[in-house]
Amino acid sequence: MRLVIDQDRCKGCNLCTLVCPYRIFLPGKTLNRKGVVVPELDRPERCTNCRLQKLYGRTLCGLCVMICPDQAIRWEEEEPHEPHKVAIEY
Ligand code: SF4
Ligand code: SF4
Repeated sequence: MRLVIDQDRCKGCNLCTLVCPYRIFLPGKTLNRKGVVVPELDRPERCTNCRLQKLYGRTLCGLCVMICPDQAIRWEEEEPHEPHKVAIEY
């Protein structure tokens, strides 16, 4: 699972930066094309839900998704990792 902020829905209220126990959401620094400062993600792979939802079979934590007034936060399925051969030349 991967944490995503929808740039078009976010209004920059920063509520998500207040609730995450891991401080994954940080106040943004630059305006997007709509003139909104969207929060930045700091190592989003630390998110409890992203790491453990498959293991527990249900949504965990989810505070950021619940508090966002614009439904701008979601989790996306990631493509399974495809191992591939690497040729090393000496
Ligand atoms: S809570 Fe939602 S709308 Fe507010 S800054 Fe976070 S992502 Fe954007
Ligand atoms: S689900 Fe919880 S741990 Fe994951 S980003 Fe949202 S608030 Fe943080």
